[in-house]
Amino acid sequence: MALVNSKKMFEMAYKNGYAIGAFNVNNMEIVQGITEACKEENAPVILQVSKGARAYANHTYLVKLVEAAVKECPEIPIVLHLDHGPDFETCKACIDGGFTSVMIDGSHLPFEENIALTKKVVEYAHERGVTVEGELGTLAGIEDDVKVEHGAESYTKPEEVIEFVTRTGVDSLAIAIGTSHGAYKFKPEQCTRNEEGILVPPALRFDILEEVSKKLPGFPIVLHGSSSVPQDYVKMVNENGGKMPDAIGVPEEQLRKAAALSVCKINIDSDLRLAMTGTIRKFYNEHPDKFDPREYLKPARANIKEIVRHKLKNVLGCAGKADECK
Ligand SMILES: [Zn+2]
Repeated sequence: MALVNSKKMFEMAYKNGYAIGAFNVNNMEIVQGITEACKEENAPVILQVSKGARAYANHTYLVKLVEAAVKECPEIPIVLHLDHGPDFETCKACIDGGFTSVMIDGSHLPFEENIALTKKVVEYAHERGVTVEGELGTLAGIEDDVKVEHGAESYTKPEEVIEFVTRTGVDSLAIAIGTSHGAYKFKPEQCTRNEEGILVPPALRFDILEEVSKKLPGFPIVLHGSSSVPQDYVKMVNENGGKMPDAIGVPEEQLRKAAALSVCKINIDSDLRLAMTGTIRKFYNEHPDKFDPREYLKPARANIKEIVRHKLKNVLGCAGKADECK
């Protein structure tokens, strides 16, 4: 099937208590790792591209890579989504250039300006069958060009969501309930440590999610910054020349809980980066004589595939759901 927008996926995800995985793509191996897992697990998927990815790989290459995945995986629905669209022009370029969904991130703007910008994107997108994600509240952490210091983040205000959604016409809303971008989601002083000295992060603000959901019944909610930063990959990085002390993510049980509620899209990027980097570092360490990129990209791709498979089955709950999302 051709690329789809996110409408049907979110409708089914909301109704049946799961979330669609939104994975960031930057090159061929990442696109292949993700979509091979989704194909084998019969899962719908959102492949998302940030401003940084477009700058790195070039819009045309990314679209063609995703089109290749669509051709190779005709049995699963795939959305091509712009992650953190910074302005109307970028959203327009993506809509005109083959994307089926865009995010306009006006979360740093005053409320009225966020509404005006989001509404403008929605009008342009909806005329062309493209779905739009907006954002209220800001997450801490770093994702490409989006940088917010820890302490400067702000939770979504539930009292604003009805007005925002009604006036903009957005199809989904990203909210801030304590997730954060990057591999260092929480400062050590925000956490406790377990017996093994591993940091245990503070719980997500499910009270805010519940209040938002009560105000917007049936409306799809999005969580950004939702990698879990698997400690086995952090260890693999650190044991093979890396230096990522106290890298920490959102516990998977909390994401599973959110997916069963109104959260229909969960963004995961850092976990795939860690799987790729850990695998390549280990390969370099064990095979200092090798220099063929295929030899280290192949196991990196295989581990991306396995971590995505794990997310689909055990965290998102969307394995086996491709058919109902068509
Ligand atoms: Zn994000």
